[in-house]
Amino acid sequence: MVKLVFLGPPGAGKGTQAQIIAESYQVPHISTGDILRTNVAEKSPLGIQAKEYMDQGDLVPDELILDMVQKRLENPDAQNGWILDGFPRTVTQAEEFVKKLLSTGTNENDTEGEEAKISNSFNVINLQVPDDILVARLLSRGRQDDNEETIKNRLQVYYQQTQPLIEFYQGRQQLISIDGNHSVDVVTNSLKQAVEKSI
Ligand code: AMP
Repeated sequence: MVKLVFLGPPGAGKGTQAQIIAESYQVPHISTGDILRTNVAEKSPLGIQAKEYMDQGDLVPDELILDMVQKRLENPDAQNGWILDGFPRTVTQAEEFVKKLLSTGTNENDTEGEEAKISNSFNVINLQVPDDILVARLLSRGRQDDNEETIKNRLQVYYQQTQPLIEFYQGRQQLISIDGNHSVDVVTNSLKQAVEKSI
């Protein structure tokens, strides 16, 4: 079963690669950024709350994100695997995520053993791309939150709040690092090889 988290700074190619891998393994591509943008466009209560953070390049509060992801993972299409793109993005999200996975149909008497099992049930792809390349890629993308000011903030937010997850998942033997500084096809090939090895 393919269960992967895509980690990496903004502009690393997470969205593009997550989409390709999701299609080839027939699992849903769950991008928290995409779900949030849909909510913003629909002016839903979540969208209205999330918009101010997104416009600044800041992270949307953990509670909102955790609820949103939990609901999405309850969908029937997510019962046989998933690709999470852009979540978790903080250590709190990662810890709460494991707790939520634990709370669905597991053995309460063996939390530690169960936790290890859950950790083993998904891998985390760390797409690595140098900073100068990231900025150039983001500037050429032209999304609403891709202006120079916001980009700087998003990178800073990434290094402060998301990068600690690399160590978090490395310590749990879940991390697979991939060099993302190549063409889309070359990166896809290394990803597929890594995924094949992991399943
Ligand atoms: P992305 O498309 O992944 O770059 O996300 C766009 C924006 O959505 C981010 O800059 C954040 O404001 C917000 N966002 C997406 N995923 C998360 C998350 N897991 N936690 C907090 N904020 C998020």
